[in-house]
Amino acid sequence: MAKPKTNLDPLPIIAKRRIDTLLVFAKHEVREHPDLAKRYVQLARAIATRHRVPLGRERKHLFCKECNAPWVVGYNVKVRLDRTSRRAIYTCACGAKKGFAYSKPAH
Ligand SMILES: [Zn+2]
Repeated sequence: MAKPKTNLDPLPIIAKRRIDTLLVFAKHEVREHPDLAKRYVQLARAIATRHRVPLGRERKHLFCKECNAPWVVGYNVKVRLDRTSRRAIYTCACGAKKGFAYSKPAH
């Protein structure tokens, strides 16, 4: 049986901290060492899977799910707004596309 999760369990907290650190490293390295940056993203995702830590909406905007490249707007990803579907479409340099819904304007 799985170990009961308590608020005192430090592992998810450590995992989240490591994920954020790796994603920051990835962003810093993407121009100089793109392969290393992809490896950092891969490790961050592996930690999230292993410890069942949800990445959350904000972190999902930070890298490509297909090629693990950290996204830097204006460098390796294009962002276009689609009014019809109310989505921001992120197009990675590898060709993968990902849409993120944006909220409706207040009337
Ligand atoms: Zn990609």
